[in-house]
Amino acid sequence: MSYIDPFVIPFSGLKPGKHEYEFFIDDEFFRHFEYSQIKAGNLKVDLELEKQESMLVLHFVISGTVHVMCDRCLDYYDQPVGGTERLIVKFGETCYEETDEIVVIPSTEHLLDVSHYIYEYIHLLLPYKCVHPNDEEGISQCNPEVTGRLPDGRGENESVDPRWDALKKLL
Ligand SMILES: [Zn+2]
Repeated sequence: MSYIDPFVIPFSGLKPGKHEYEFFIDDEFFRHFEYSQIKAGNLKVDLELEKQESMLVLHFVISGTVHVMCDRCLDYYDQPVGGTERLIVKFGETCYEETDEIVVIPSTEHLLDVSHYIYEYIHLLLPYKCVHPNDEEGISQCNPEVTGRLPDGRGENESVDPRWDALKKLL
């Protein structure tokens, strides 16, 4: 059995109605996607698949952390990610994406590989900017050698929020 096998759902044999699946995502998962921006992580995916007469409705609930590079200091850290995504699979002549949420697959198909969708969703859930979070005292956990921040937290105000600059110009 290959790593991806559990992600391939033989939906044609399912009874109509709701079916639940649970997936655990680890570093190995991301190795299956050569160009993945994420190389490591630890996530859980709960999938509810509802088989209807003419379509499949899938609800994904994703939560966990991914190991990503900090945009500010370039060290790696664990970024929490979480969210829900919906996918509707319809049947037609060929494969195509009708919208971001609706895909069409050939009506002769009887397997659905959800690994690609989970992979895409995890990347979509990443924040626009990946930066080390602050600790309980509000001090950035970025690598001080890179950011030039002094160990006692002085210099921290230099982490520039462009909105402040805009405000200063107004004052
Ligand atoms: Zn950082």
